[in-house]
Amino acid sequence: MRYVSTRGVAPELDFEDVLLTGLARDGGLYVPATWPHFSENAIRSMRGLSYAELAVRVIRPFMGEEIDEEQLSRLVQEAYSHFDHAAVAPLQQIGASDWLLELFHGPTLAFKDYALQLVGLLFDHVLTKRQERVTIVGATSGDTGSAAIEACRDRDAIDIFILHPMGRVSEVQRRQMTTVDSPNVHNIAVNGNFDDCQNLVKAMFNDQDYRDSLRLSAVNSINWARIMAQIVYYFHAAVSLGAPDRPMAFSVPTGNFGNVYAGYVAKQMGLPIRKLIVGSNTNDILTRYFTNNDMTIQPVNPTNSPSMDIAISSNFERLLFELYERDGHKVAALMGDFQDTGVLAVEDSVWERSRELFESWRLDDAETAATIADFRARNGDMLDPHSAIGVAASWARRPAFGLPMISLATAHSAKFPDAVERACGARPELPPRLADLLQRPEHYETVPNDLKTVQNHIRKLSRII
Ligand SMILES: *Cc1c(COP(=O)(O)O)cnc(C)c1O
Repeated sequence: MRYVSTRGVAPELDFEDVLLTGLARDGGLYVPATWPHFSENAIRSMRGLSYAELAVRVIRPFMGEEIDEEQLSRLVQEAYSHFDHAAVAPLQQIGASDWLLELFHGPTLAFKDYALQLVGLLFDHVLTKRQERVTIVGATSGDTGSAAIEACRDRDAIDIFILHPMGRVSEVQRRQMTTVDSPNVHNIAVNGNFDDCQNLVKAMFNDQDYRDSLRLSAVNSINWARIMAQIVYYFHAAVSLGAPDRPMAFSVPTGNFGNVYAGYVAKQMGLPIRKLIVGSNTNDILTRYFTNNDMTIQPVNPTNSPSMDIAISSNFERLLFELYERDGHKVAALMGDFQDTGVLAVEDSVWERSRELFESWRLDDAETAATIADFRARNGDMLDPHSAIGVAASWARRPAFGLPMISLATAHSAKFPDAVERACGARPELPPRLADLLQRPEHYETVPNDLKTVQNHIRKLSRII
């Protein structure tokens, strides 16, 4: 499979290079040159496959001959062997034709594990084969850091450094990162806020000599391989509810548009998805776009669903590329204007087309809390604030009656115990595997918000030089 950039200039790459490169050199995002497509019979034949077997079927067409089926199968089996539920991504029925797709049974209790567990292994596999190493550097305000650390721990070809703002991530989130005891994992608490951490990471990537000497790399949400791995659970859920013979809709709590975009790709590949509902918190750039064709950047305000607190949804560029019939120059021009003016101006006819598939719904913190309480009263279970936004959006925007509706639960309630307890009066408990998290020893260094200090610290600990 060849990959092209959404901005039409960067060279085409194969899967392995796309995996290791992340962002394209023209500032665009890589997407496959064509969408693999499964016939109805091919989809029927997926019934009864385990999550790992299905993952091999769905992912295989996105790779060339570089990674053969047996290797892929081995990596996929390993990636999903550490999940807490035998079904990996179980569906729970929560209403007459409503289901909850539970994506929180991975090592760090958020859906990011479903992609990152596999991406970490793919990185290690490709790097070992090429006899190369990388230094992964990232900033986190919460979920991404722990999922990336769990995915990369104990891998010989990777050193990983995660910066978090000191004292500004929740205790559960911090401990999920800092209690990992592995020689290639390094947590750095920066005396600053999340923006400071992100700026330090950007500055390191912009320092070409530093970047090259340490072979800096990233596993952030614009990496194509993460999207690819997320397509699998759409197939898993849809096939178990009767695809290709029964159409359905999905509701997805979204920040960067990565998760719901994977649903869009699943539809291109042949799933009968009739609607994709985008749930947002008050950082609602996507809801403003889908309801009013208004994509204007606004300042981020903190909410009780912090993993969706974004100003821009980076992966939306991949949908834009499709809406403009893969005209990379047009996308480059639109994104350039977006950066200069803070407004993404999509023609009304194009916007109308995007609304054929997508709907959107926004919740503030009070509405999210009310949904958590309401869901507990109806079903007895606790939703985390992100999952609650998906469920509420599905209730609000459900299309024609009878169409099965699948809401994606993106985190375990115990990851956000304070917000959940405030909402419904009960405190969710961590699963047994993590029950002693608050007693485990932590490993991290505290550094000032200073580029040179951080660079030297990483250089000293990296095994590359
Ligand atoms: C990252 C995250 C999201 C948002 O996912 P996107 O792919 O950015 O849309 C939603 N919920 C949780 C719990 C997350 O960690």
